[in-house]
Amino acid sequence: MRIGRTLAPAASPIPLLDVLKSLAHISDEGQTARFNSELRDYFGIKYCFLVSSGKAALYLILKALKEMYPEKNEVLIPAFTCYSVPSAIKKAGLRIRLCDVNPDTLDFDFDKLAEFFSQNITDFQAQHFSKLLCVLPTHLFGVPADIAKLRNITRGTVTIVEDAAQSMGAEYEGKKLGVLGDVGFFSLGRGKAFTTIEGGIILTNRDDIGQQLNRTSASLPGYGISEIYRLVAQSILLTLFLRPSLFWLPNSIPCLKLGETIFEQDFPVKKLSPFQAALAKNWQNKLNALQRMRRINVRYYLKMLPARSHHINFTQNHTFSDVIRLPLKTESLELRNQIISLSKKKGLGIMPSYPDSIDGIDELQKELKGEYYPGAKLLSERLMTLPVHPYVTQIDTKKICNLLYSTD
Ligand SMILES: *Cc1c(COP(=O)(O)O)cnc(C)c1O
Repeated sequence: MRIGRTLAPAASPIPLLDVLKSLAHISDEGQTARFNSELRDYFGIKYCFLVSSGKAALYLILKALKEMYPEKNEVLIPAFTCYSVPSAIKKAGLRIRLCDVNPDTLDFDFDKLAEFFSQNITDFQAQHFSKLLCVLPTHLFGVPADIAKLRNITRGTVTIVEDAAQSMGAEYEGKKLGVLGDVGFFSLGRGKAFTTIEGGIILTNRDDIGQQLNRTSASLPGYGISEIYRLVAQSILLTLFLRPSLFWLPNSIPCLKLGETIFEQDFPVKKLSPFQAALAKNWQNKLNALQRMRRINVRYYLKMLPARSHHINFTQNHTFSDVIRLPLKTESLELRNQIISLSKKKGLGIMPSYPDSIDGIDELQKELKGEYYPGAKLLSERLMTLPVHPYVTQIDTKKICNLLYSTD
């Protein structure tokens, strides 16, 4: 166990003053209405829904699509993604279909995707018979997925649900992520681009989906008062213990399960509370400031690493500009684990990503057995991420680069 300065793998700090100010708005519904209308303005979108998490957002989207297309029950997702995604699909009573990922882009393996569509949906007429409800392109860590390319393959035969959970505020080729699909969602969880402790945002411009979501979300419960107090307590703890000077403490308590990836069989689906919406006050400026600080660290790594280290082999540097942690692929599992254990000793916040591909999740064995996803397996073994959040100083980034040079 390490005592002393320790970096979290990802962090979007909330100033304590913001928490204290938000206490005055615990039952002020105007806060959620304001947040909602600001989001619609900023993203130029007609429908916005604020809920209790990213997976709650995805669950509601899937429920709404299921109402619209009752004969369809399959959801196609990348074989390497956040475990919350299959959680939401199962909770919605749907079937998971997997497509392998390209380990160099973190996006779908588009050859495999084209194969999937040629086997499952041969032409536009055939879509009527297809079971496929939607496909989820995913901007993992904020690295943009190629949605134009996906559209070229799907050609309007299937709904595109953009998983922008980790990429609120990110842009690609001048376009804002989150509003490139038929419907998209952000997560406001800890460790995402911007946080209100927990929360989720659904965005869509499609009238049919927006109106169905209106109906599907009409009877959602709000947070109870004890849950609000839990959020208040969590936000105070978060503002304190995310600091590198104190992060070693929660990090050393195993029952907090920090950084662990778990597959949740069930989770609450609620409306975002006014307290959370109040925490998000002035979010555009805060998000911009967070992004600016993260970009400085990303630029430093990209400048320092490719020349001397073999750890970066993603090719298109510009796609990294808005990441919330910088993904790197190592040459072997052994090398990655060596780097991570050195980083642990020094508190440098280098972490692996998801522990296995989606077909490796125990609870899903029965449903997903049979196929092999080499790209996803490779990432689960060799991917690691460098911290880029605002608590990461120049001294930290130097130490991290030195650690990587030393294992080169
Ligand atoms: C975090 C995340 C989610 C789920 O968001 P929560 O707010 O944690 O429920 C979904 N997809 C991806 C890619 C994520 O990173």
